[in-house]
Amino acid sequence: MLIDAHCHLQDKRIAHHLPMALERAACAGVEKQVCCGTSESDWQEVLKLAQSYATVHPCLGLHPWYVTARSRQWLVLLEELLIQHPMAGLGEIGLDHAIQDVDRNDQDLVFREQLALARTLHRPVSIHCRRAWKALLTALDETGPLPDGWMIHSFSGSMEMMQELTRRGAYISLSGSITRQHRQRIRNVAAAIPDHQLLIETDAPDIIPYSIKGDANTCTPINDGPNLPEYLVHIARELAAIRDTNTEALSAITTRNTRRLFG
Ligand SMILES: [Zn+2]
Repeated sequence: MLIDAHCHLQDKRIAHHLPMALERAACAGVEKQVCCGTSESDWQEVLKLAQSYATVHPCLGLHPWYVTARSRQWLVLLEELLIQHPMAGLGEIGLDHAIQDVDRNDQDLVFREQLALARTLHRPVSIHCRRAWKALLTALDETGPLPDGWMIHSFSGSMEMMQELTRRGAYISLSGSITRQHRQRIRNVAAAIPDHQLLIETDAPDIIPYSIKGDANTCTPINDGPNLPEYLVHIARELAAIRDTNTEALSAITTRNTRRLFG
């Protein structure tokens, strides 16, 4: 049994395929999905999915891509919803310096406000970070510990950064990017993450896994459609091979870790 530690079932590319997508996930052995909101416009959708499907665990947060579109009452609304839904985690939140025309100060402010909320309400946190690793460490160190746990979703950083983060208590979550063989750096990192801090996720509907046949240059997406929770099994299989273990042992580890983090 596997748990998808980070996905977006409210996205129209998947939402149109529910409940079939969840039935297929269950058949493939993906027993739960941690579903992350991204902005005020989808928080209610995420909560509705969690109410409708027993396998869906909700997280609510303001994603760095949508910071500029926030309303004036976004933080009050987020706090209210989290209080109403004590099981919900905080996410997806974070820093992204790879997008264009980014106001880094504004992103940083919104990120820190949500870290503070997680601390006050005792919630686990799902963090997005692209090309902002130094700023991430600074924000984490300056805002203080997150005793209810936190994960870096779809980790893409260096070995050194993985070590900096795990030393601070992070869970490191790996996505379909490890199935792209030319990404040797992330595969080396994937082999070195401590067992008790390892998670796996699809980030569906994005980051479709690749199937690897023959040499690395011929690996191709497993299909032309959106990524789906059922494809977590491809990621688990590839990660087990990278870590020189079997899929059952790997699943037991990542499922236990995800349960510990999200309750
Ligand atoms: Zn995501």
